[in-house]
Amino acid sequence: MSDTIKVIIAGPRGRMGREAVKMVTSTEHFILTAVVDHKNDGMMLSDLEGFQNISNVPVYSDIRKCLQSEEADVLIELTTPEVGMDHTIAALEYNVRPVVGTTGFSQEDLTQLEQICQEKNLGCIIAPNFAIGAVLMMKFAQMAAKYFNDVEIIELHHDKKLDAPSGTAVKTAQMISAVREAKTQGHLNEKETLQGARGAQYNGMHIHSVRLPGLIAHQEVLLGADGQTLTIRHDSYDRSSFMSGVKVAVETVMKQNRFVYGLENILD
Ligand code: NAP
Repeated sequence: MSDTIKVIIAGPRGRMGREAVKMVTSTEHFILTAVVDHKNDGMMLSDLEGFQNISNVPVYSDIRKCLQSEEADVLIELTTPEVGMDHTIAALEYNVRPVVGTTGFSQEDLTQLEQICQEKNLGCIIAPNFAIGAVLMMKFAQMAAKYFNDVEIIELHHDKKLDAPSGTAVKTAQMISAVREAKTQGHLNEKETLQGARGAQYNGMHIHSVRLPGLIAHQEVLLGADGQTLTIRHDSYDRSSFMSGVKVAVETVMKQNRFVYGLENILD
């Protein structure tokens, strides 16, 4: 890959944003042209803590002003679902292809973005999990669910995470639902004596969300059948685990004219 790709990052001071800044500035054919940060309008990225080595990258609080003033091919969006949706729409308005890691978008949001991509004939990649291992975990769980109807998903994240269940858990449940015979799990007369004990439900499958300091992003898919269980687990111990996927997405989105949800749809 030799063509240079100009990138804007929204949320550069966040935990994911900082990793994305490192990844973009250390990738030879990527150029970081600007960042979108709601707190430091008009400054340079090098004025902000931890970015002293990065020169010539302006900071904008208003994404539309940023897109009007700076040339860009791709927006990497790593903020919150509320503002992330507006940032993604703004990028598409300005013919900039979004790569979105922000989680917590609703189904209506995704449908709206898919429509805009269709109208504009532009690529957009949204992935609830950019770790390649997590994508394989979802694929393996989907393969296994053809043979195991009973599935419980346990997702575990750090306690600063805003949305529950995680986007990865929902995506896993969606992928499993595509192959699993519909089934309500557990005893027919099952009753919770403490509300929430059996977790959230997705097509009869149960999803449990654990939040603890010390964790990053982890998920177990437990599949049960008579006399056996199968457990498929993935652990992200560091946010750098997501960056190889973000990099592939930035390169791939440049060649695409459609909306893609899930990294598994762009990996061979
Ligand atoms: P974080 O550390 O809280 O960072 C979020 C950043 O967004 C902060 O710097 C925050 O600034 C900024 N922000 C908030 N409102 C903003 C606005 N209006 N305009 C511009 N920036 C704004 O969170 P994180 O851990 O980096 O995660 C970011 C997102 O990525 C979350 O949705 C998370 O679930 C998701 N995530 C995705 C993956 C994946 O593989 N897809 C992996 C991990 C996390 P302040 O600090 O000033 O509020």
